[in-house]
Amino acid sequence: MLLEHLNHKLKAIADQDLTRVLRVAESATAPLQTVRGADGQARQLLMFCSNDYLGLAAHPQVVDAFAEGARLYGAGSGASHLISGHGLAHDTLERALAAWVEPQIPHAQALFFCTGYMANLAVISALGDEKAEIFSDELNHASLIDGCRLARAPVQRYAHKDMAALQTLLAASQAKVKLIVTDAVFSMDGDLAPLDELLALAEAHDAWLIVDDAHGLGVLGAQGRGTLSHFGLRSERLILMGTLGKAAGVAGAFVAAHPTITQYLLQAARSYIFTTAAPPAVAHALLKSLEIIASDEGDQRRANLVRLQAQLRAGIERLLAAYPQLGWQRVPSDTPVQPLIIGENGATMHLAARLDAAGLRVPGIRPPTVPKGTARLRITLCATHTEADIQRLLQALNEAAAELASESP
Ligand SMILES: *Cc1c(COP(=O)(O)O)cnc(C)c1O
Repeated sequence: MLLEHLNHKLKAIADQDLTRVLRVAESATAPLQTVRGADGQARQLLMFCSNDYLGLAAHPQVVDAFAEGARLYGAGSGASHLISGHGLAHDTLERALAAWVEPQIPHAQALFFCTGYMANLAVISALGDEKAEIFSDELNHASLIDGCRLARAPVQRYAHKDMAALQTLLAASQAKVKLIVTDAVFSMDGDLAPLDELLALAEAHDAWLIVDDAHGLGVLGAQGRGTLSHFGLRSERLILMGTLGKAAGVAGAFVAAHPTITQYLLQAARSYIFTTAAPPAVAHALLKSLEIIASDEGDQRRANLVRLQAQLRAGIERLLAAYPQLGWQRVPSDTPVQPLIIGENGATMHLAARLDAAGLRVPGIRPPTVPKGTARLRITLCATHTEADIQRLLQALNEAAAELASESP
């Protein structure tokens, strides 16, 4: 019965063009990567899909630090943080992260988690107890949504970035603890949450603002300190979740906040307490990543990213102007996440397959990851891309658009 039931569900997924497939990357994360497809063939593809925005995942100094960390501390941590898994590398990293966040959150302390997903589950479910009420942007990342599901607090969803709606909800709330939860950079759209307005609302309504900066950390703000720094914010009411597997190039995440909050999380955050601490080498490598992110080299990488974003944006605007009949749309974004909305699931996957045949990997993103009718190519850029790479992508998109335009009546 189970297999029959699942086969039925798999068919329904396939009928909506929603089947997801795994590909095997055979070489390190980089713009040019060898990837084995479903047909078993390995091919070199030009990738526009990783979140390794600064190109640190295979940076020689980060790789060396990883190897050094393993030599110094071994491969595994052996236990959870509160038993014996919390080593010198984890401790040093947490202190470095706290110092990193201090300009935005006075007296911040940081806790290092194995993944951003786990950090979001922890912070929302632990703080969102029966005395709390949670206010969540409708386009928040799945891990924030799952954190809300685990919380005991009631959850109010507000329309994407609708500050008036949020204000109404906050004003009506009787809860003792009010938690506003938002992506800083929305992961499928690349747009920024109005963090300045959100913080002002939090202050006006005695609420706390939980910010998920998975896509801003390393990319935005002075020295890549993230979206809070980009907005020039500083407040004790901020609770920051940052991930370390994207621009930082390694793995893991952290929550930084007022010491009372982090001390409470240490007692109550189940996905911190009941899991084996990340390998110490991960923390050791991240110390090197943070150093590079804040350095002149980090600035150069970010400057390159901004140039590439501008080149892509200009090219896509020309493309949309040339083929308005296709109904494709750009989402205004000043981040390395540059979506091109196609609309239908089938058309989106068809276009992704066509780019794949041309040697380019640009993932098609479909519901439920994005709202129905807004299936899209999620183009992401890395500092290690070149102008010629962007040109190649634009040319392939133009060829596909020309062909589609001539096919449609
Ligand atoms: C990727 C992502 C996460 C999850 O982080 P991991 O470290 O990959 O588990 C959380 N929030 C957002 C917005 C993300 O994009």
